[in-house]
Amino acid sequence: MNDKLHITIDGPAASGKSATAKKLSQDISIPYIDTGIMYRGLTYFMIRYVENFENRDVIENFDFASNIRMDLDDSNILYINDENISGNLYSKEVTDIVSFFSSINSVRKYLVNEQKNIAFDKDLIMIGRDIGTVVLPKAKYKFFLDSNIETRTKRRMDQKKININDQDEIDKNFDSIKNRDLIDKSRDLSPLKPAQDAIIIYNDHIDLNATVDLMKNIILD
Ligand code: C5P
Repeated sequence: MNDKLHITIDGPAASGKSATAKKLSQDISIPYIDTGIMYRGLTYFMIRYVENFENRDVIENFDFASNIRMDLDDSNILYINDENISGNLYSKEVTDIVSFFSSINSVRKYLVNEQKNIAFDKDLIMIGRDIGTVVLPKAKYKFFLDSNIETRTKRRMDQKKININDQDEIDKNFDSIKNRDLIDKSRDLSPLKPAQDAIIIYNDHIDLNATVDLMKNIILD
């Protein structure tokens, strides 16, 4: 795997990973894969097809490999068992429970393996929470994006085209991000954290272009 150019971008919710990866991908002509889509896809699938999906033991004992065929193409369109489920990934129902699913060992084992396979034979930018630490620990370039939770809440509301002066919405989005970060950082298996050799970029005060330029200066040096 070492001869492939792998670039990892990790960070908490709404830290700008997707937008940054998309632009970097266009600028340096290397595809990017958003692993959050895979966690969301699996969550959607379980909610829809599995009884008692809120029970940790049910998920822990679920045989993913035999029941699910997941295909994520280079445009980040996700198919599960040949059904395009990309339109269903950002609902409140999925967002509220995805971090719970992501903390379960069987889920991580299955998806980390899928992600390693995707990256095996190609140059790739991969984004998520544990890409630099667990999925591609030997990646040549590792970045970790971060910013304070107020900035990230505003960013998420902008993305969803929600009025950024609506205090109820601010509170709801703030809490949702805070809860997910807490679960993602405190889980036993591959918690959200920067790899020891990751370059941490705080992007509170720099825009998307400046963030991507910083990365390109390092990668194209
Ligand atoms: O990136 P996004 O917010 O779409 O990710 C949704 C959730 O998927 C995260 O909150 C986290 O629980 C989980 N996730 C993860 N590891 C990854 C990517 C996402 O645990 N590599």
